[in-house]
Amino acid sequence: MITRMSSLFLRTLREDPADAEVPSHKLLVRAGYVRRVAPGGYSWLPLGLKVLRRIEAIVREEMEAIGGQEIQFPALLPKEPYETSGRWTEYGPNLFRLKDRKGADYLLGPTHEELFALTVKGEYNSYKDYPVTLYQVQTKYRDEARPRAGVLRGREFVMKDSYSFDLDDAGLDASYARHRAAYIRIFERLGLDYVVVSATSGAMGGSASEEFLAVADTGEDTYVRSTESGYAANVEAVVTPAPPERAVEGRPEAQVHYTPGTPTIETLVDFLNGAGLGRTFTAADTLKNVLVKLREPGEKEWKLLGIGLPGDREVDLKRLEAAVEPAEVALLDEADFAANKFLVKGYIGPGALAAAGVRYLVDPRVVKGTAWVTGADKADHHVVDLLCGRDFMPDGTIEAAEVKEGDASPDGQGTLVAARGIEIGHIFQLGRKYTDAFQVDALGPDSKPVRITMGSYGIGISRLVAVIAEQHHDELGLVWPRAVAPADVHIVIAGKDETVAEGGERIASELSDRGARVLLDDRKASPGVKFADAELVGVPTILVVGRGLANGVVEVKDRGSGERVEVPVDGVVDHLL
Ligand code: ATP
Ligand code: MG
Ligand code: MG
Ligand code: MG
Repeated sequence: MITRMSSLFLRTLREDPADAEVPSHKLLVRAGYVRRVAPGGYSWLPLGLKVLRRIEAIVREEMEAIGGQEIQFPALLPKEPYETSGRWTEYGPNLFRLKDRKGADYLLGPTHEELFALTVKGEYNSYKDYPVTLYQVQTKYRDEARPRAGVLRGREFVMKDSYSFDLDDAGLDASYARHRAAYIRIFERLGLDYVVVSATSGAMGGSASEEFLAVADTGEDTYVRSTESGYAANVEAVVTPAPPERAVEGRPEAQVHYTPGTPTIETLVDFLNGAGLGRTFTAADTLKNVLVKLREPGEKEWKLLGIGLPGDREVDLKRLEAAVEPAEVALLDEADFAANKFLVKGYIGPGALAAAGVRYLVDPRVVKGTAWVTGADKADHHVVDLLCGRDFMPDGTIEAAEVKEGDASPDGQGTLVAARGIEIGHIFQLGRKYTDAFQVDALGPDSKPVRITMGSYGIGISRLVAVIAEQHHDELGLVWPRAVAPADVHIVIAGKDETVAEGGERIASELSDRGARVLLDDRKASPGVKFADAELVGVPTILVVGRGLANGVVEVKDRGSGERVEVPVDGVVDHLL
């Protein structure tokens, strides 16, 4: 295929756009890939759309390779399923809500767990139907607090979201592992420098969760990794000691370690009764004014799962049991709280709270000033709002829990180094959060219903365009990896001579006939303008057809290395393919 720059809908800009801070944003606008329409809303121009489609194609290939089947939901969704799951309110101000002419509530889908769960429930009902993995490549809407950096953080963006449905935990583990491997293949093919880190589960709920972060100084996520082990985590997911200035003299941390084996209400109750709290618990009991920190099997971090409340709010033990498998539990007791004896340490993850089905569990007396919430802008507004609304932090300061470079690694091996990254993918073992909400069951071989378990897996497709640009550019412009470049060869016709133009055309046709995608600069511009645009646009191979043609040679330039070689014009097509 030949794309002629004389007619291509493209205007490159010499100046950086005024609102752009990061290189990818500047370059994608200057090179005419995207144009801003609204905060966090961008149109894709022809070159940008080609890159976007290349990324989509790679993602689709790898999704199909693990057995994913593509479907597509509307972006305009009724409120009811999101009410059932609780996310109509939980998603907070990030959700675009709207009303139709009859006054019915709708939303623009930020992610589609509810719809996938409902659809599978509607079509499948036997154990023989499972497992199944479905996905879509679709436009999502989130009213981000800070849309940023062009398509990097949009309010309308393209995501690949897939969902696995399995009969049991082992099935979910396998589906998760398949997705993890597919994601590794995708990000390798896209030429990205990235890390896989353990992550909080955010507003999605669930337990096992990992993020794929592209390494970038301009990233909004901070991750730490151990110098000695494979440990790597988003700082949001790391248990941190309270910062020194927050520590209060004479308040040692109390932790009672306990390994319950198979956790049940009974073992939790046993544990509570054995913890010397000076009170007897039963299975029908609720927790009040106690903090339970759980460490799940295989996980390094403690999760603070509940702080009971004074007055009428309570934590239902049954909900704790349903959602988590504690390997170790630490408990702080009521009397000690009252005596102001303990310092609450560690991380309150809204994801951890959601994972346990536990909400609104903050005792201001206990927590104020000694615990903090991360991810204020990570779709966790329900918790943040609540905390603020209850005067938890009247000044509204929600501080991120930062582990520092040089801290000991939580797994005890080595020290931590910190770096910044951009989230490009996120995989979750959701478990039964949504299948419980929608009662998605399969009839087992014994005709008894089996509750399906679910995973959800996202990739930011439109974000990836910016992320790849962020990692692949130089001072002159973009430098696309071959796999996603908008063309394979960029031919610059340098000179007004008719034979030069003919030579360029001939090479372009031959390359195109042999399957290459050619961007042919056949404009009436000066060679200087054409060279500058070729560097800016970033096609990996630039072929200059100019004066040398009279001597039977053309110049091939590698956009990445800058290396130039003269090649006989007769052999250039073979040289390039
Ligand atoms: P972030 O932490 O950057 O806000 P997220 O954790 O809210 O992302 P997920 O809900 O995990 O995002 O969605 C899956 C993927 O969608 C993310 O890994 C990211 O690549 C992409 N994504 C999320 N929000 C945006 C956005 N506003 N613009 C572009 N891509 C996004
Ligand atoms: Mg995130
Ligand atoms: Mg987000
Ligand atoms: Mg995420």
